[in-house]
Amino acid sequence: MTTYQRLDRTALFNRLQGCFKGLPEANTFSGGRTEALRKLHAYDPASYGRSRNHINSAVSRLSPYLRHGMISPVEVKDHLGSKFPNEPTRIEEFLRQLAWRDFFEKVLAWHGNGLNEDLEEPKHGVARSHKIPLDVLKGDTGLPCVDGMLGELFEQGYLHNHARLWFSAYLCHFRGVRWQEGAKLFRQYLYDGDIASNSASWQWVESTFASKPYFMNKDNIANFSNGKWCDSCKAKCPFDADYPTLQHRLFAGSTAPLASKTADKDVAIGTTNEAHNTIADEILPQQSSKDLVWVHDAAMSWTDPAIANNPNAAVAFVFDEPMLRTEPWAFHRIAFIADGIDDLYETLPNSTKLILIGATAERLTTVAQKFGATTIHISDHPNPWVIETIEHLRQNFNVTVHPKPALTEYQLEPKRFSRYWEKVAAQVLGYRPKPSKRMHH
Ligand SMILES: Cc1cc2nc3c(=O)[nH]c(=O)nc-3n(C[C@H](O)[C@H](O)[C@H](O)COP(=O)(O)OP(=O)(O)OC[C@H]3O[C@@H](n4cnc5c(N)ncnc54)[C@H](O)[C@@H]3O)c2cc1C
Repeated sequence: MTTYQRLDRTALFNRLQGCFKGLPEANTFSGGRTEALRKLHAYDPASYGRSRNHINSAVSRLSPYLRHGMISPVEVKDHLGSKFPNEPTRIEEFLRQLAWRDFFEKVLAWHGNGLNEDLEEPKHGVARSHKIPLDVLKGDTGLPCVDGMLGELFEQGYLHNHARLWFSAYLCHFRGVRWQEGAKLFRQYLYDGDIASNSASWQWVESTFASKPYFMNKDNIANFSNGKWCDSCKAKCPFDADYPTLQHRLFAGSTAPLASKTADKDVAIGTTNEAHNTIADEILPQQSSKDLVWVHDAAMSWTDPAIANNPNAAVAFVFDEPMLRTEPWAFHRIAFIADGIDDLYETLPNSTKLILIGATAERLTTVAQKFGATTIHISDHPNPWVIETIEHLRQNFNVTVHPKPALTEYQLEPKRFSRYWEKVAAQVLGYRPKPSKRMHH
């Protein structure tokens, strides 16, 4: 095992100026596979099926680790299956929810960059704004529930699934903002921010990937939050109506953006035309292997096939500076990844472990050429950025793409979860579950 000097957070903070939002403050989540395994082993989904829609329920909070490949859905399934061998119903609902992640990854694999655009026509005729109103960006809408959710998003980088549904319905339907703007905000702040689950879920709420728009009323918020915000709320509540009334108010033939009253206060988020300088090359150590492994941000585990199969290769992680400048992440996301790199590199036997900053394909090309590496190993992932980087690297190198064990095999177009689940449930659970009416995601 080689010694590894942990990433200096202050140095990282200084080198990545302009690539992140906020300050490097205490983390809600510590990154890394070691922490992921600790959380997984401590988790018991006994009450999950009954309570998971309540925002104070015992959900696993494993998504940041799954998102970054620090653990895999297959591992989670196998672990729970062996921990509770004769109690399938104890874990069934949890595994069904885990399958949503797999489903959305298949949606991403199917559509690629197309997932950033409407997958279907919206099932309503309401126009949408391209800008998030300033009061939302400031977390100062005057609605305790919405501001509470935004506070959690900005400061803690995590929201319960039901809160994500409420907030996305609020932004799209009650404020008339395009789902893409909300998805971007989530990507920037959520520890688990990704393309697959995030964009597909926003589209599900908006109705461009579902047969109807999702929205909630006050009773639903009050009930599933245990009155957390509603009990003492003095605001004029836009959600306080029955569903038919809200349905009519939000969608009945209206074509005007609902956010028109605040349009003059709107600001765009996260865009910058600022030029950027590529940071000077790091001093590279000697490396004798002809192989290089690119550790991307969805494959941060020493069990990942690209890494595990190449113990003599140099390994490299790249903070993609141009990408982060275009869409800066909250610093807590960067710190989580730094934790993950430390944890991974401390464990790997490989002698050369690099952390690079710059445009990913270019930096990898430079490093591989300096080493005289001829093959680059990469873990398979449907993220279009990973796919584009692979294509780019193929121009100069042999690229070996290492597949990962998948939770399910499903070759059809992933259109509706219910159809997918009907086909794959037995693969995930090991038996065919009783038919369920619950389609709520
Ligand atoms: C608008 C919106 C945006 C979202 N954006 C993201 C995102 O960027 N990244 C992300 O990982 N998830 C996203 N989700 C899905 C879901 O909210 C989170 O995966 C889940 O809340 C994570 O918390 P947990 O790990 O405690 O989940 P648990 O309830 O403990 O579930 C265990 C695991 O199952 C999977 N899972 C559970 N529910 C869902 C779901 N509805 N959709 C997909 N996978 C699910 C996750 O991998 C999760 O870690 C989004 C949902 C909505 C409604």
